[in-house]
Amino acid sequence: MRFSFFPAVLGLSLLAAGCNSPSSSPVAATETPATPPADQTKYVLVVHGGAGTILKSKMTPEKEAAYRAALTKALQTGYDQLQAGKTSLDAVEAAIHILEDSPLFNAGKGAVFTHAGRNEMDAAIMDGKTLQAGAVAGVTVIRNPISAARAVMDKSEHVMMVGPGAEQFARQVGLTLVDPSYFYTEERWKGLQDAIREDSTKARLDHDDRKAARLGGGQHDYKFGTVGCVALDKAGNLAAGTSTGGMTNKKFGRVGDAPLIGAGTYANNATAGISCTGWGEFFIRSVVAHDISALMEYKDLSVDEATRTVLEKVAKLGGDGGLIALDRQGHASLPFNTAGMYRGTITGDGKIEVKIYKE
Ligand code: ASP
Repeated sequence: MRFSFFPAVLGLSLLAAGCNSPSSSPVAATETPATPPADQTKYVLVVHGGAGTILKSKMTPEKEAAYRAALTKALQTGYDQLQAGKTSLDAVEAAIHILEDSPLFNAGKGAVFTHAGRNEMDAAIMDGKTLQAGAVAGVTVIRNPISAARAVMDKSEHVMMVGPGAEQFARQVGLTLVDPSYFYTEERWKGLQDAIREDSTKARLDHDDRKAARLGGGQHDYKFGTVGCVALDKAGNLAAGTSTGGMTNKKFGRVGDAPLIGAGTYANNATAGISCTGWGEFFIRSVVAHDISALMEYKDLSVDEATRTVLEKVAKLGGDGGLIALDRQGHASLPFNTAGMYRGTITGDGKIEVKIYKE
C-alpha cells in the first residue's frame, strides 16, 4: 500500500546520465568553479494536495484536468520564485497561495466545515536553515493562512497563535482578511450535511467516501485535501509549509497535525523538509515529520527509508495518509498508504511531474 517517487528519482537520474546535463558539461582547465554547478535533474520543489481514496474510476476527465492544472500552477509559481533567487520560504508560501486560492483543495478557499458550520483553518511554515517556525490554528478570516504562519515566524517572538488572537495579529501586520463567507463552497457544505446525517458524533476527513468514512470504524476509506510544499533554494536551504481546513464536522476547536511543528510540518537543512496529509490524530501521535528528520539525523537513513519507516508506524497505529519530503541534495520521497495522493515535483531544469493515483 506504499508508494514513493523513488523509482522516478532513479529513472530521472539514469536519464540525466545520458543527457548533456549542466553537471556533465566539460569545464576548461583554467576555470574551476568555486562550487560545482547544481545537478539540474534533482528536485527543487514538491507539493501535495491531499491523500486518500482518489480512484480514477471515481474521477471525471474535467475534474482530473483541473487538479492537474492547479498542482502544475503551484509548482511553476514556486519554481519561478526559486529561479528569481528568492528563498525556499518564499517559494513555499507562493506555491501554497495557489492551492489555498483554489476551491479544489481543503485549504483557504474550499476549506471544509466544522460541525458548527464554520471554516477553521490551520497552517505552519518552517525554515530549515534557522529552525525558525510559525503557525496558526483555528483561524476564520485570514485569506491565506500560510502567510499568517509566515508572519508569526518573521514578525513575532512566538511560534504559534490561535483563533481571534492570530487574526488580530494578522490584521496588525497587514494581511488580507476576508468575510468568512469567502471560504464557502457548495461541495464542502454538502459534505458537512452528509457527515452530520451519517454520524452525529464523529468528525470525518475531507473528500471521504461517505459510506466508508467513519472514524473508528473497521473499514475506512479516506481522502484528505490538505496542501503542502517543500522547497530547496539556490543557496541550498530547505523550507516546508502545510495549510488545511482540517476535518469535516470537527468540533470543540479540534486542531490537526498540519500546524504542529514536528507532527505535520518540519524542515531542517541537516535532514529534510516534510509536509504531511492524512488522519491528523495519528500523525500527531506519531510525531511524523520530526520522526523522519530524526531517523535521518541520528540513524543516517535516506529520506526515502525514513519516510517509509515512519509511515509504516502510522499504519500500525491504524492511521493513513501520506507526505512529501525533500532533502538538501534534492532527493524527493512522496509515499502514501491511501489509494492516491495529489502530488507533484519540479526539478532544477523545470521539468514538472504531477501524479494522482498509485503507480
Ligand atoms: N491532516 C489534516 C488534519 O488532520 C487533514 C488532511 O490532511 O486533510 O487536520
